[in-house]
Amino acid sequence: MTMFTGLAPIQIGVAEPSTNSTSNASASGEPEHARVVIVGSGPAGLTAAIYAARANLSPVVLGGYEAGGQLMTTSEIENYPGFPDGIGGPELMGLFRTQAERFGARVLDVDVDRVDFGSRPFRLWAAGVEYRADAVIVATGASALWLGIESETRLRGHGVSACATCDGFFFRDKEIAVVGGGDTALEEALYLTRFATKVHIVHRRGSFRASKIMIARASEHPKIELHLNRTVAEVVGQDRVEAVQLSRTDEPGEETLPIGGLFIAIGHRPNGGAFREWLPSDETGYLTVEGETTESAIDGIFIAGDIHDHRYRQAITAAGEGARAAIDAERWLETAGAVSDEPATLAAVL
Ligand SMILES: Cc1cc2nc3c(=O)[nH]c(=O)nc-3n(C[C@H](O)[C@H](O)[C@H](O)COP(=O)(O)OP(=O)(O)OC[C@H]3O[C@@H](n4cnc5c(N)ncnc54)[C@H](O)[C@@H]3O)c2cc1C
Repeated sequence: MTMFTGLAPIQIGVAEPSTNSTSNASASGEPEHARVVIVGSGPAGLTAAIYAARANLSPVVLGGYEAGGQLMTTSEIENYPGFPDGIGGPELMGLFRTQAERFGARVLDVDVDRVDFGSRPFRLWAAGVEYRADAVIVATGASALWLGIESETRLRGHGVSACATCDGFFFRDKEIAVVGGGDTALEEALYLTRFATKVHIVHRRGSFRASKIMIARASEHPKIELHLNRTVAEVVGQDRVEAVQLSRTDEPGEETLPIGGLFIAIGHRPNGGAFREWLPSDETGYLTVEGETTESAIDGIFIAGDIHDHRYRQAITAAGEGARAAIDAERWLETAGAVSDEPATLAAVL
């Protein structure tokens, strides 16, 4: 059993004024150096922080302005192991953070807006402060796309969700609507037929852009009803979803669909903007890893969680990747030795 080392929090950053109460900028004005900088404070980032801190690497977490990540917007999580009665998203992420900080991780609620991974030590800038790192773990997640209407925002977590795997179970014996026209929307709709009495798929165009096989499965399913050429104008309900008001896109007309739950499945946006210049991504913007590890195309940079995983998108899988990335980083640091000013090795063509 590894004992808690009681590491003193390291000083990091330069003396630019920061509104962030967790910032601990150095008075010297020199950028300070961390063995591991972790970008993102969702399940992946904070799990990486726990592992890296317990490996004595004194990680600094540049956790983002949306500290805690996607789970901060969800009221109840029933599928995270260890909590048989379920747990609130913010409460779970608070526990992740407390555990990481207990072992000496420093978590700063700032966004990284620029990086230079061209030489070592790696350089990152957040809120005007420069950080240097021997190894970096990128765990910036992905953001679910929403329709952007007021009633949808108000009822998030009260019948409006963006994750069928996470929340489908709460909608047993209810009628549900799914918004979207791609494979993910149809997959979510088919998954939700396990719980719902009926699933309505609402799509703004006259045909789906999903694969033929998914379209066939959805349109032949006895519990699924298609509503093409329609958009959601309003989610109806004060404290919980009671209906959706649909507007036709091909001709004038509105209709109200009584439902108990609304799933928005119009896509996710991976939060990889700050790294785009340095790290390869797939055609949809998700960062790619090399082989079976969490290694990126640049030695010493590791990737974990929803920023590259668009298949599983779960807290437990993101946390698992955070653990893998910290172990990969630790092993890499051990073999790469002390940091040098050498150019970083590009393991693949960028
Ligand atoms: C509505 C909803 C309900 C869900 N319910 C469940 C559930 O019940 N069970 C479950 O297992 N999963 C659930 N999920 C999925 C789960 O939330 C994600 O799979 C998980 O949070 C991914 O973790 P992550 O650490 O990879 O990324 P995220 O949680 O997305 O965290 C990313 C972090 O990176 C930070 N960040 C982004 N850009 C930057 C930057 N430039 N600089 C610094 N930091 C940055 C953000 O601030 C954030 O802290 C749900 C998702 C949603 C949207």
